[in-house]
Amino acid sequence: MKLSFLGAAKQVTGSMYLITLESGYKILIDCGMDYEMKKNPVSRGNLFPFEPVTLDLVILTHAHIDHSGNLPALTAGGYKGPIICTPATAELTEFLLFDSANIQWNDYRKNLGRTKKTRRDFIPKPLFTEKQVQECVDQFLTLHLHKPFKINDQVSIKLIEAGHLLGAASVELTLTEKGVTQKIGFTGDLGRSNSKLVKNGEVFSDINYLVTESTYGGRKHLVEKNPEDELLDYIQKTCIEFRGRLVIPAFSVGRTQAIVFTIHQLKQKGFIPSWLKVFVDSPLAIKSTPVYERHPYLLNEEAADFLKTHGNLFHFEGIEYLEGMDEHDELMNYFEPCIIISAAGMVEGGRIQEHVSNNIENPYSTILIAGYCADGTLGHRLLQGQSSIRIKNTERNIYAKIARTDVFSSHPDHDEVKNYVLTAIKNSDQKLRKVFLVHGDIPHLQAMQDDLAASGLSDKVVVPDMLEEFYL
Ligand SMILES: [Zn+2]
Repeated sequence: MKLSFLGAAKQVTGSMYLITLESGYKILIDCGMDYEMKKNPVSRGNLFPFEPVTLDLVILTHAHIDHSGNLPALTAGGYKGPIICTPATAELTEFLLFDSANIQWNDYRKNLGRTKKTRRDFIPKPLFTEKQVQECVDQFLTLHLHKPFKINDQVSIKLIEAGHLLGAASVELTLTEKGVTQKIGFTGDLGRSNSKLVKNGEVFSDINYLVTESTYGGRKHLVEKNPEDELLDYIQKTCIEFRGRLVIPAFSVGRTQAIVFTIHQLKQKGFIPSWLKVFVDSPLAIKSTPVYERHPYLLNEEAADFLKTHGNLFHFEGIEYLEGMDEHDELMNYFEPCIIISAAGMVEGGRIQEHVSNNIENPYSTILIAGYCADGTLGHRLLQGQSSIRIKNTERNIYAKIARTDVFSSHPDHDEVKNYVLTAIKNSDQKLRKVFLVHGDIPHLQAMQDDLAASGLSDKVVVPDMLEEFYL
């Protein structure tokens, strides 16, 4: 059989891996949007280096767009088979794909308006329509964690907990050819241990090949306190002592719920005064938040106990979820101390940009970056310690405090991934032949490869190139 790396190879986004059996049977694992297209030869021509109609099976590890975002283009392009994922992933992915279609069409219309008529044909068109998203999600076939699913005599699937996002799974494929059975584990994105809301990830056993993410290779999370203490510190210093506003950029799915749940825990412990309002300014967060309570069996013990005791995870006195633009505009004119949580996490676009712009010249405000910010994003630029910054064509002085925390990170750091790999090798009793490192920028993959090589695994660890193929 052949394993082809069609995305997230020597880069972070665009996860897509293809298994081709000798019989010609093809399985695609993830079909993510590639935000780093310029580096990626695949995306310069066709979106897929294969005919979608030739695929037999698609498996989705989790909802994030860099793993799911090209699925509607795949189904619109001719793939008519099932897309296997967990029930929670199916629900979250549906919201994210509709949101993605919306963003693409809004950007396209804006670009049309800005471009001369004669140049309009050169503007890239959106990858899919809302109708195509609906047709795509109709092909989802849900599979619970830990339930082995036999597709045919050659192919079986099992999903296990990845600990990264509600519903996120690692995929174990058991493949039999000519009487020989091999197991391949795809981690998808992993989580940290003791993450908010979700359970800890599980490590594969008895596998022959491992394809693992290494987003934070070479880096260590700066975590000194637990999430409650860390967040309370910022709330106390910003909102209570100085009566200022705490602005937290956060992805609508995953990060926002972790932060809101932590504030709810602090509220229940009596640390948050009743006059302090919390605003969640994100329509996508409003849609995805109830999915957590619809799948309580996926929650970790802390969250499940909290849900049992208090009846809900994300609603408390003083929290307001804002959907319409009129509510957003009202918040822009609200100058009392408060906490504002809004998307996007890297402060690129979305409503958060306006909140950052609105608060950045206020010395009583704190902007708390709670996740990874890629080079070149506004979030990344904010962290550079400059005295002023350009936001939406306006130069702003930075008087607000800019802070960063890793306590809500949803990816493991270097040591956690290394331990994962070593445990998988131990659990596989010398059967694990190759470890492929993906989903990381080159320096981070290199750091992980070097460290694993220093641990005696130099013959096992591979950093595949984009489009590279391996016969297993
Ligand atoms: Zn992810």
